[in-house]
Amino acid sequence: MTEKNIETHLSPSAVWNADVPPFTGVRKTVDGDEAAERMNTINYWLKQRFHHKMIKLSLDGGFTCPNRDGTRGTGGCTFCSSTGSGEFASDIASQLDLLHEKWPRAGCLAYFQNHTNTYAPVDVLRERFRKALEDPRIEGLVVATRPDCLPDEVLDLLSEIAEHHFLWIELGLQTSKPETVRLINRCYGNDEYTGAMRRLRERGIHAVSHLILGLPGETREDMFRSLNFVKENHSWGIKLHLLNVTKGSRLAEDLPDYEPFPSMESYISLVCDMIEQIPPEMVIHRLTADVPRPLLIAPSWSFRKRTILNGINAELRQRDSWQGKFLD
Ligand code: SF4
Repeated sequence: MTEKNIETHLSPSAVWNADVPPFTGVRKTVDGDEAAERMNTINYWLKQRFHHKMIKLSLDGGFTCPNRDGTRGTGGCTFCSSTGSGEFASDIASQLDLLHEKWPRAGCLAYFQNHTNTYAPVDVLRERFRKALEDPRIEGLVVATRPDCLPDEVLDLLSEIAEHHFLWIELGLQTSKPETVRLINRCYGNDEYTGAMRRLRERGIHAVSHLILGLPGETREDMFRSLNFVKENHSWGIKLHLLNVTKGSRLAEDLPDYEPFPSMESYISLVCDMIEQIPPEMVIHRLTADVPRPLLIAPSWSFRKRTILNGINAELRQRDSWQGKFLD
């Protein structure tokens, strides 16, 4: 490696392609964790990959977003509050100390979550990522960004990191419906997502795609079309977010009385229907979304994250169903 390359304590054996057995959709109870076997969740997957508990450490890399600074748009996506889509980010040292106190044996993935984490000169990105990886408790990197912020020099840097470190990239697609894309002011096209996914794939970099459920004007069919779009683009992982209307967002200004779903039960039922259509090999990273209660306007029940997840697991059990059950 050259001096400029990112070098840390991690050995090449820590890179992505360790042996993770393929998820087979088995429905047996293993270690009392029946629900994990019904879905190929990221917790399940990480346990297979690292053989110990893994925690994501949310970091604020201090980046902004081209959809806020005028490069692609102003004001940001309508659902996004001004601190970015991740509300819990704070600095690395204090979070690591806290997590280490609670879970002394857990490994950590540094999660660059706030705003667009590849939106800076490549030397700045290199320094930020190097800083995160230099702590021996950090075993890999997760970088959330936009498809239009992955130029070749950034992809080169990510490829270099992925050669020696565990890494995945997250892309906020949210929806594939052009009318909604305009409505939420996403400010990049579906073709840019497809192009970014292809270029990441060509470099062997794994990607997680985000979808938001309950966007204004979207029908069940629209949401399933978005899911199919993610599948067609061979996403390694998927995050299903429940739309939250938050204080300070443009969505709250434009549609102050908007309710994304009539009830928690209707959301749970839709998510279970989607899980049944998600390929078993696609890793499920998220099935809902919560925001700090002081920021939440609707749905009033979305902060009950544990109840929602328990409801999804209970519904899958009650249906005797699992991820990918109804794939053609
Ligand atoms: S959701 Fe992401 S892309 Fe949209 S404004 Fe917020 S940080 Fe930018």
